[in-house]
Amino acid sequence: MVITTTKTSQENVHSTFASRYVRAPLPRFQMPPNSMPKEAAYQIVNDELMLDGNPRLNLASFVTTWMEPECDKLIMSSINKNYVDMDEYPVTTELQNRCVNMIAHLFHAPVGDNEAAIGVGTVGSSEAIMLAGLAFKRKWQAKRKAEGKPFDKPNIVTGANVQVCWEKFARYFEVELKEVKLMEGYYVMDPAKAVEMVDENTICVAAILGSTLTGEFEDVKLLNTLLTEKNKETGWDTPIHVDAASGGFIAPFLYPDLEWDFRLPLVKSINVSGHKYGLVYAGVGWVVWRSTDDLPDELVFHINYLGSDQPTFTLNFSKGSSQIISQYYQFIRLGFEGYKNIMENCMVNAKVLKEGIEKTGRFDIVSKDVGVPLVAFSLKDSTRYTVFQIAESLRRFGWIIPAYTMPPNAERIAVLRVVVREDFSHSLAQRLVSDIEKVMKELDDLPPRAIMKAVHVAAVADETEGYKGNGGHLKKSVTDTQREVASYWRRVVKEKTSGVC
Ligand SMILES: *Cc1c(COP(=O)(O)O)cnc(C)c1O
Repeated sequence: MVITTTKTSQENVHSTFASRYVRAPLPRFQMPPNSMPKEAAYQIVNDELMLDGNPRLNLASFVTTWMEPECDKLIMSSINKNYVDMDEYPVTTELQNRCVNMIAHLFHAPVGDNEAAIGVGTVGSSEAIMLAGLAFKRKWQAKRKAEGKPFDKPNIVTGANVQVCWEKFARYFEVELKEVKLMEGYYVMDPAKAVEMVDENTICVAAILGSTLTGEFEDVKLLNTLLTEKNKETGWDTPIHVDAASGGFIAPFLYPDLEWDFRLPLVKSINVSGHKYGLVYAGVGWVVWRSTDDLPDELVFHINYLGSDQPTFTLNFSKGSSQIISQYYQFIRLGFEGYKNIMENCMVNAKVLKEGIEKTGRFDIVSKDVGVPLVAFSLKDSTRYTVFQIAESLRRFGWIIPAYTMPPNAERIAVLRVVVREDFSHSLAQRLVSDIEKVMKELDDLPPRAIMKAVHVAAVADETEGYKGNGGHLKKSVTDTQREVASYWRRVVKEKTSGVC
């Protein structure tokens, strides 16, 4: 990149817009040899970012996109604090401990009113799950070693609907992931099938409170009952982890009587994303353990850091403090009442959206009324176009809505999913319904050939689905057409199916 050097004050006057400094494409591979004025750098970066989507219209994500200005202020004033410097920032450490206590109580951990709970703040649920998984693995290994049994083939039982971080955990930490397959019409882990899959090498069964794909809560209570029976029969003591990344801040407020947490004896650890319905910007998650017995001491590092003992159990060392500080802000600012209000409001808006979508008569609703506030819906008839085209077309209106196929064995079902967050209002819900209607009308009016042409080309080339082109001629039957359309879009989104977060 070439930056014109401004020689005279006269030229400076004209060099206010950053593009005037840039005479060549922006650097992408190597650091530029020379510096540039800060205003120019700011403008270049800022302008390039204009092409990103608008986070508020990003309905693909559970992650918080709006906080109060007071919180933004707290974040900016703590942005230069390294969380790990606990000795220097003892108050920040104290705030994280208070958050852990509050969450543990919310999840009915068996700790006294003034007793410190066991848990830690993380970057998100993924890190939380790595830590919880490691604790299970280590505990299981220790037990097997003590019994003189092999301990080299640990596995975890989950539903095929697990979030990608479980696959990561399995691969990074060498634990086999045994997935209970789904069925068309049933998109969460079946507790009975899960318990059937448990064997002596199972380090835990992971249940999801708020399936990423449909928002549905898995039946942790039934899982607890069935697993207790199996443990009795076999003499094992297979525990449960609850991945409450999104549901952990929904269920306690909306369904206080639903037993999914430490009220169930086999639930030994729970993770929740502070940056989802915990209402904090991206960068905070939590994991809490039932008791000290469930967190092997050998995983906790005691570091003498600048003069004091600092127990740590995280994957990373340094990280920002702002998210932890703002989590504490949200807890005391909103209180139980405030969280309940917000979650109720999200549910109402999800209902408005769901009813609007149902009213078009063109979709089946796949999400449940009890669960995380989201609406997942599939096209009743995808012979002419699919949810993937609807998602693409909605982009033009600024809406970012993911479309994806379900995991095995429900791959034939493709859905759109709209996550309802606090900042998604009633009127935005109505607006979205009317934009969906517009898009459908446009797609309905397209000549079928225009849609099918692209599909045909791709379908012929698609060998992975086992489809063989029929001498270059389009097939006419409904099933074939449906298969072609589905196969085309599967190719398009092959790498994207687990991209929803
Ligand atoms: C979002 C999500 C995760 C991953 O959480 P991050 O906080 O984004 O790391 C894990 N499990 C479920 C069920 C989720 O919804």
